[in-house]
Amino acid sequence: MSAYRSRAINDLEAVLSEQNRSEIMTLKIISCNCIGGKLFSAASVVTQEMLSIFEDFPSEKSCTLAFEDVWDVRKLQDLVELHSEKEWKEEVRAKKPKISKSIQNNKDDAAFVNLENYILDLDYHMSCMKKVIKNRKEERDLSKREVIKALNVHLFSPLSGGNCVIDFHVMEEDNCVCSCGCTTPVHAGPTGIGVESCWHGFVDMVVSGNELVNTVQTSDLSEKVKMVVGVKREENLLDSRFQSSVIAETITNSFAQVNRNPAVSGLPIPAFGCTPDEILVFAYDCRNDMLLKKMVDLKLFHDDVKSATIVMLWLYINFTSFMRRDVTDTLTKPFLSEFTSEFCSSRQIESCYRKVTSATPEFYPVSNWPKLNYYSSANMT
Ligand SMILES: [Zn+2]
Repeated sequence: MSAYRSRAINDLEAVLSEQNRSEIMTLKIISCNCIGGKLFSAASVVTQEMLSIFEDFPSEKSCTLAFEDVWDVRKLQDLVELHSEKEWKEEVRAKKPKISKSIQNNKDDAAFVNLENYILDLDYHMSCMKKVIKNRKEERDLSKREVIKALNVHLFSPLSGGNCVIDFHVMEEDNCVCSCGCTTPVHAGPTGIGVESCWHGFVDMVVSGNELVNTVQTSDLSEKVKMVVGVKREENLLDSRFQSSVIAETITNSFAQVNRNPAVSGLPIPAFGCTPDEILVFAYDCRNDMLLKKMVDLKLFHDDVKSATIVMLWLYINFTSFMRRDVTDTLTKPFLSEFTSEFCSSRQIESCYRKVTSATPEFYPVSNWPKLNYYSSANMT
């Protein structure tokens, strides 16, 4: 048992030892169709990164942030120390100074237990996912529903302590179990995000992160921050339609979470775009209008990076515990002002997105008759 426990600690330590690398980059939105009632699947977003593939836009720029600029390294090191300590006998513990105050939070600890348990069963979960995802080349066409279920049962659900639901439209009524054959039940829920006049729709999965530890008291302290997971059946991550829909979901969800729980305002809220073997991570902070993208995509089945992938995914899921509060703060980091996404480019966009909600069970068709307020020019002079 203790050998497995240290595997999770070693994996976290290994990730921390590479903290000098660039973790995340800023994205600028050149154009998008955020107003006008488009579904996420019809979202069109052009970022400066996408534009830079064209020869006539060679000088597009982005700001990168290092691992230590994004994550609370001190807190994570304390977590490693605390859990390494557990494995030693009492006499060792007695000699050690008391653990730092940064980690006296049960929620951080509970989150770490999810990681430990997952790493304990890592090989099992990987083989289950492979059974569904990797075998398809030999056998049959893989359905998106099968990928969603496998990613839910063998990745997002265990890493979030069971807090991951699938869009109920995706579920078959008579087959609510994992597609790998393990018969684990999957849970469906309302995953609708947005309002009819803006980007909106049902996302494939919604994963709940850790509760936000508040220094300021708010009305609802137990509110969990929800993150969206978009899934794609094909392996091509560079598909701009898929990236567009995940960016639209990322931005819309960020507004929805902040509208619901102002305590998360100012934090970039992550979202995940999954193909059968890689995960793209985006994050959006709607207060500072900063759109971020993780620089290296997370590879699920690559032996060299499998553990690091799990640790990173776990960090993003628990971002309210482990992300620095000032990642995208344009006040304390004025240089970031040059790299805002420019999504909130008009008052109209801001006022539209202030109405955005999450966990919407249904969207209603709009009246197709325009209702303008007409002003006669005769009265205007
Ligand atoms: Zn399974």
